[in-house]
Amino acid sequence: MAPAVRPSEAPMLDPALISRLIRRVAAASGASATTTSAPFTGKPLAELPQSSAADVAGAFARARAAQAAWAARTPRERAAPFERFHDLVLDRQREILDIVQWETGKARRHAFEEVYDAAGGTLYYARHAPAMLRRRRTPGAVPGATRTYVHHRPKGVVSVITPWNYPLTLPVSDAVPALIAGNAVVAKPDTQTALTALWAIDLLVEAGLPEDLWIPVLGEPAEIGDALIDHADHVAFTGSSAVGAHIAQRAAARLVGCSAELGGKNPAIVCADADLDRTVDGVLRACFSSSGQLCVSMERIYVHDAIHDDFAGRLVAAVRDMTLNAEFDFTADMGSLTYRRQLDRVTAHVEDARAKGADVLVGGRPRPDIGPLFYEPTLLAGVTADMDACDDETFGPVAALHRFGDEDEAVERANATGYGLNASIWTRDVARGRRLAERIRSGTVNINEGYGATWASYGAPIGGMKRSGLGRRHGVEGLLRYTEPQAIASQHV
Ligand code: NAD
Repeated sequence: MAPAVRPSEAPMLDPALISRLIRRVAAASGASATTTSAPFTGKPLAELPQSSAADVAGAFARARAAQAAWAARTPRERAAPFERFHDLVLDRQREILDIVQWETGKARRHAFEEVYDAAGGTLYYARHAPAMLRRRRTPGAVPGATRTYVHHRPKGVVSVITPWNYPLTLPVSDAVPALIAGNAVVAKPDTQTALTALWAIDLLVEAGLPEDLWIPVLGEPAEIGDALIDHADHVAFTGSSAVGAHIAQRAAARLVGCSAELGGKNPAIVCADADLDRTVDGVLRACFSSSGQLCVSMERIYVHDAIHDDFAGRLVAAVRDMTLNAEFDFTADMGSLTYRRQLDRVTAHVEDARAKGADVLVGGRPRPDIGPLFYEPTLLAGVTADMDACDDETFGPVAALHRFGDEDEAVERANATGYGLNASIWTRDVARGRRLAERIRSGTVNINEGYGATWASYGAPIGGMKRSGLGRRHGVEGLLRYTEPQAIASQHV
């Protein structure tokens, strides 16, 4: 592994910036919580207002009042601020890259993925949503006499609940289509990464979004979690499968819609004819981007027997060459984990595998010499079904290498999990890649790419099968989930 560099002593976030961002949080009680730059120094980062259940109810009431006038605008009028928002995100990227790094500890190159996604996804909907929302005629019951059309009414006020791992991408990619479809949004980001979401909200208001259409609340799930479901007309949740199941049940009891983007234990299949240089490079990124704290990252790598040893040797060498640091530049290949509990989980998975006989091919140690929550990029071999790292999502920089003999075995083992979020297939024969892809039960499959090809295809839906989720984001599906199709048929007498 290339020499580690100690965390930057870069100046902390400007207090004036923090004050500007937190003023939008719906929180009347005066309660607050301190976030720290845990990944770097553990020093306090910001004092954030905390909302009560009553604050959440108040936020929904304000959002509901603002939504009626917003819905009365045409889709094209609603899309206009989002084109400006796209430009502002790119213009101000240094500011948000710093905030994302301070809050998450991820490498700057991975923070940049967020800027790219937030800008690209927004522009996609700003340009294409008006056409997707256009009313459509359907054949009438009595040709000539009955005329029928369908139009897409906004649902009302949407709850957008997001985790900490992609704190810019996730709130933006869920809120933007909801807003362009004519809804208002009440958003609850994770407190550790709230400033990133607040920055996006502030910037969109600067770009022209009327006040009260995207209202943030912050707080503990035990205090405000239920209120976020009980007042919503749709819930867009991203997070763990356990919490997603609870939220989907609570929404179902009120008969309101819920889309849930949940966990994964994503496989890569490396065929005998794979381009090994490209595959090593792509698998490396797919395993260790944002320190593996990425729902679509690869944690299981199935390699054909014929190339297994060659591939494993090259991959281990590439991992050894990775640079770990938390500098505010683009020198690091990987940064820190974000939460202490993630470090504990990663350590427990690796130690459990080691104790039960797995080999640690490279990595396998925390790195407190770099920062309190750093862990080495790690490859395991010999992982078996009795080990936690086999089927449980690690959500960290740990992947297991496995061998396979033929395609049927690869597909069977790739599918042998309760998750079905993302998969990748590496082969020079794209027709074979597609054939295999259609046999994998996951919402997305990338061929000769880890996750970026599907993630950045904003026009194509992404999401999970099995325990990985309900519904889709991106594309027409990611927009129309926030609408009620209404059919209007008239008899022309
Ligand atoms: P989590 O489920 O604990 O929390 C996610 C969010 O939900 C947080 O904002 C949290 O405060 C909130 N929350 C928790 N309990 C709640 C409740 N009862 N009511 C309302 N809100 C509640 O998830 P996490 O551990 O913070 O995030 C990591 C998980 O998210 C991983 O499993 C990862 O795979 C998944 N994830 C999925 C995607 C995707 O697009 N499929 C993207 C990113 C992360």
